[in-house]
Amino acid sequence: MLRLLLTCEHGGNTVPPAYEALFNGQEDILQTHRGYDIGALDLYQSLRPVADVGFYSETTRLLVELNRSIGHPKLFSEFSSMLPEKDRQRLLRQHYLPYREEVEQMVQDFVSAGRQVLHLSVHTFTPVLDGEERQADIGLLYDPKRKQERAFSREWKAALLRQDKKLLVRFNYPYLGIADGLTSYMRRKFTADQYVGIELEVNQKYQEHHPERWHQLKQLLSDTLKVLLLEKQEEFSSS
Ligand SMILES: [Zn+2]
Repeated sequence: MLRLLLTCEHGGNTVPPAYEALFNGQEDILQTHRGYDIGALDLYQSLRPVADVGFYSETTRLLVELNRSIGHPKLFSEFSSMLPEKDRQRLLRQHYLPYREEVEQMVQDFVSAGRQVLHLSVHTFTPVLDGEERQADIGLLYDPKRKQERAFSREWKAALLRQDKKLLVRFNYPYLGIADGLTSYMRRKFTADQYVGIELEVNQKYQEHHPERWHQLKQLLSDTLKVLLLEKQEEFSSS
C-alpha cells in the first residue's frame, strides 16, 4: 500500500522573537520569494486532504534553510550566517532538526509498517529570477535513476495535460530533483521501493496576479493527484 506524505519546507516568513533583530531595517525582504515560497502553504493546504500525513514550516528560510543539508553553504542565509556558532547550533536544534527528524520519522513509521511512501514536497518558484523569465507553470522534480519517481511524474504530467492542454509542465525544472534537498536526503536513507520523493514546484505568478487561475491550478493538482493515488492503490492490491 502506498501512503502519501505531504510537506512544505518554505510555508511561511515568520521570524521567532529571538531573531527579529537580524532583520532590522530589512523586514521587506521577508515578504518576497526570498523569505518564503509565496502561495506554497495555500497549495499545501489544498492538497492536504488527499494525503495521509503532512508537516509544514512557517519559519522563514532566511533563518535556516530546511531544504538544504547540514554543511551546505546555503544552509544559513546572509542574515543568519554571521551568527556565532552557538546561535547557529541553536537554530539547528530548535528549528531545523525537529522538522527534518519529524519528516524522516513519518517515512520511517510507514516503512516499518511495510508501506511504500510517496513524499510530495510542495514548493513555489518566483516567475523571474535574475532577469530571466521561467518557462513553466508546474515543475516536477525527481531522481531520473529512480524508476517509480520518473513514472509517477510522467503519469501526473499526462493527467494534468488531459485536463488542461495549455499547461506547461516540466520535469526537473526550475531545479534538478537530485540537487541538495529534503527528498535527496531521504533517498539516501530509504530505498527506491520504500520511498518515492517528488518535489512539486508551482509558478508564483498565478497566486500573485491571477487568483482565478491559481484556484484552478490548485483544484487541478488536487483532483489529478487523488485519481493517480487511487490508481496506484488498485495496482498494489491487484498485484
Ligand atoms: Zn521552496
